[in-house]
Parts: sequence; structure tokens; C-alpha cells
Amino acid sequence: MGKFKIAFYWCASCGGCEEAVVDLAEDILKVFDIADIVFWPVAMDFKKEDVENLSDKSIDVAFINGAIRLSEHEEMVKLLRSKSKLVVAFGSCAHLGGIPGLGNLWNKKFIFKRVYNEVPTVYNPEGTTPESKIKVKEDELELPEFWNTVRALDQVIEVDYYIPGCAPPPDVVKKAFETIFSGKLPPKGSVLGAENKALCDECPLNDTKPEKISLKDFKRVHQVKLDPEKCLLTQGVLCLGPVTRGGCGALCIKCGMPCTGCFGPLDKVRDFGARAMSFLASIFEYENEDDIKRVFEKIVDPVGWFYRYSLPKSLLERRNMKNIREEGER
Ligand code: SF4
Ligand code: SF4
Ligand code: SF4
Repeated sequence: MGKFKIAFYWCASCGGCEEAVVDLAEDILKVFDIADIVFWPVAMDFKKEDVENLSDKSIDVAFINGAIRLSEHEEMVKLLRSKSKLVVAFGSCAHLGGIPGLGNLWNKKFIFKRVYNEVPTVYNPEGTTPESKIKVKEDELELPEFWNTVRALDQVIEVDYYIPGCAPPPDVVKKAFETIFSGKLPPKGSVLGAENKALCDECPLNDTKPEKISLKDFKRVHQVKLDPEKCLLTQGVLCLGPVTRGGCGALCIKCGMPCTGCFGPLDKVRDFGARAMSFLASIFEYENEDDIKRVFEKIVDPVGWFYRYSLPKSLLERRNMKNIREEGER
């Protein structure tokens, strides 16, 4: 068999997932030994027509990171899907909607108003916002449409596998690549590079976590002097390790920060945030409704906490905004 043909593409992404590929360091050379990159516009001079000119299913694997925010993203991932045997959602944004998915708390109108008119560092007296079509002397130029709603990759095209993390750490990427290139593929829809075990299982502080946790209060990291040798959750800090897929090696915990859930849920959990909230409700010791209210009011930005990486893939998908479809967009 000749070399694999692989493609990398980014959608609504911070660039961290592209960086994650480069973070393979010298291991990236092993990838180049067995695979030819046929499309990676971030790193090499490829054009859309290079993909259009390929025959259908001639790319072995397309790794796509970032969420779907623009018409261009949708167009490109549909094109890559038709040209690829396998499509892998790379990183939290493609997997679950990710950080850009928090844009689903708003819509295009609100986001443009805020970004182009209200942000204190913006000077825009005419209130100009991007238009998708603009006439210039030579021609009419077209920019991609900005959708109202951010979607995860599998809400737009069929996805074969997922690589978790924001961004996926090098070991996870390496393991996922090894699985793919070995040809011994797990069932379609599997998460690659990380097992179906909670982060607590690999956390160095797990031994200090009692069988049954019972909390009366939650604290934010700056409100408590944390004991670095003791489970953060038992110290009252919201750590989502018990409901998050492990595989990262407890990177945040080792830096004294709680897990915020970037590896997403374990298999068969439909809604990460709901699972996290139900877990926290189960360890919280309360006497009455006022107690619950008092404690939950301390969770600043609950959507950002429980759905930081997964709002588009939650049961809600987005905040329900009146008139959202008035603009005739998604
Ligand atoms: S998953 Fe994280 S690192 Fe990757 S593109 Fe999204 S925000 Fe960036
Ligand atoms: S709750 Fe957090 S700190 Fe405690 S064992 Fe689990 S991952 Fe580690
Ligand atoms: S500890 Fe949690 S948030 Fe941090 S990298 Fe691991 S899974 Fe992601």
C-alpha cells in the first residue's frame, strides 16, 4: 500500500488545534513517513480547488478542527466529506462545539452589535458591520455568511471519529494517529486517543478523594488557598474530573487548576453539562431550597462552567432567542 493521503482543515478555531499537530515535535516526521498531506491551508499553500480537483474518497483521512460558524466552514467540510474516506473531528470545537459554541448564547445581530459597536476599544462611529456582499469598482465581492448558530462538526456532516481536548495534547494525538494508521479501527463514532474512563481515574490526587464527597459550599480557585496534595473537589472547588473523559494526564490538576471538562463526556452521556450538574447536586449537602439557591448563585457564569465546550451539542444546543430566524439565517 502507498502512503496515506491526509488533510487538515480548520473552521471556527483559535489555531490551538493546528498547533497541537505541530506539538507532535519530531513525531510529526513519522507521520510524514507514512502519509502525504494533500491539504493543510494553515501550513502550506493549498487552495480550495486543489480539493475540488481530487476524486471522491481519494483522501484517506481528513482531520477537521474548529466549530461550524460560517457558510465557508459548511461548504468546506461538505467538500472534504465527499473527498474523504474518514473524517475525524479534531479537538473540542469540532467534537462538541467548543468555546466558539458559547456564541450560541447570542445571535449574529447581538454579536455584531457588541463586537463592532459596544466594545470600549472599538471606534466605529458609522456603526459599520461586515456585509456578505459588497460592490467594488471591479466586481462584487462576497464574504462568508456568519450564521446565528454555531454547530459541532457532526451536526453538519457525518463524522467517523473524534479526538478530544482543547487542544488535544500530543500524546492523545499520537495515540489517535497510531490507531488510525494501524488500520485497526474501533467502531465508528469512537473517541480516539483517550479511553472511556473519568479523569479522576488518572488524577494523582484521586487517592485523597473519599468514596463519598459531601460539600456545603463551592469556592472559586482565587477564594481558597488550595492544598496541592488534596483533591480539589473535596476542597470545595468545582472540578469536573468525575464526569470528564480522562486521557490528558490531569494536565490542569497538575497545575493546581480544576478540570473544566475539555475532553467532554464519557460514552453514552448525551449532555455533558446536565451530567455535571446532576453529579454536583448529588454531592451537595443541603437542607432546603434556600441552601441550593445560595450555593448555585456562587457559580458565576453557570453556562460557561457546565457547557464551556459543549453548548452546541447539549440538549438545548443554543439559547432560545426571540426573532432569531427573522434574518432568514440559521
Ligand atoms: S478545541 Fe481549543 S485549541 Fe482547538 S480550536 Fe477549539 S478552542 Fe482552539
Ligand atoms: S475531582 Fe478533580 S482533583 Fe479530585 S480526583 Fe477528580 S480530577 Fe482529581
Ligand atoms: S484536566 Fe480537564 S480541562 Fe484540563 S486538559 Fe484535562 S480534560 Fe481538559
